[in-house]
Amino acid sequence: MTDSDSDADTILCPSANCRDGALLVGIVMPDGRVAFTSERIVVDEEFVQIARRGASPEKRFRFGSTCVEGACAQWTGERCGVIDEVLQTVNPRGAPGELPDCSIRPQCRWFHQSGAAACVACPEVITDARMSVE
Ligand code: SF4
Repeated sequence: MTDSDSDADTILCPSANCRDGALLVGIVMPDGRVAFTSERIVVDEEFVQIARRGASPEKRFRFGSTCVEGACAQWTGERCGVIDEVLQTVNPRGAPGELPDCSIRPQCRWFHQSGAAACVACPEVITDARMSVE
């Protein structure tokens, strides 16, 4: 775990990889939507090891971790390109204006960029959306 992940001033990526120190943001439900947690849950190495035994943890959970800005391929130079694309392509199934009870909102990169619209679309986002034969 890095100090910056737990620092309240740190901006977090809400679609990060599973790793020791990441925050567990939500769980992918059978209908493909993410159920969020209002509790701040830090993932430890044991969780990571167990989660990696099954299908990709990034298909089954959502994690938050420090936004690394220019060190990420999704950074456009001044913002995260992922949520911009999500807002253009995803049709949220939730009720309009219904925001998930999410533990990372004050620090979330997507919320900082796009406000409530990001939170309405966010449950539709699965970090590892690749097709697989697992
Ligand atoms: S976009 Fe909203 S719901 Fe999604 S992780 Fe960020 S604050 Fe939480």
